[in-house]
Amino acid sequence: MTDTAPTVDPAFEAAYQAAQKSLSEGGIPIGAALARNGVVVASGHNERVQHGDPIAHGEMSALRAAGRQKSYRDTTLYTTLAPCAMCTGTIIQFKIPRVVVGEAETFPGEFDLLRSRGVEVVVLDDPRCVEMMRTFQDEHPELWAEDIAE
Ligand SMILES: [Zn+2]
Repeated sequence: MTDTAPTVDPAFEAAYQAAQKSLSEGGIPIGAALARNGVVVASGHNERVQHGDPIAHGEMSALRAAGRQKSYRDTTLYTTLAPCAMCTGTIIQFKIPRVVVGEAETFPGEFDLLRSRGVEVVVLDDPRCVEMMRTFQDEHPELWAEDIAE
């Protein structure tokens, strides 16, 4: 776990900005970005509310935006929140070797499953992400419950 040093990774910032964009649209503030060698391939955000699409989690939207990739072995998936079981399954399926997560305080995700399949998980403990999710979960408990199928 890191200290509160500001995050400067541009791929993580792309994920964070995507989450903010979703929030500004009235959506769930979770963003993600796929990067290769530090360069953002694509970013996306949760679109459940915007598109009425139940599987449009941030990670899924970023991967959809990235289009077909021959291989994901040299990629990193960035996400503002710990990946759920669905997104974890997709990460495993595509053999994405590394996931960088903004925070896992407001949702634990599936780190054990990811690590059991050899995926490196890095947690940034970014206070902006915690604040963003806490506020959203407090203000929209029904949307949040729906997103994580509670
Ligand atoms: Zn998910």
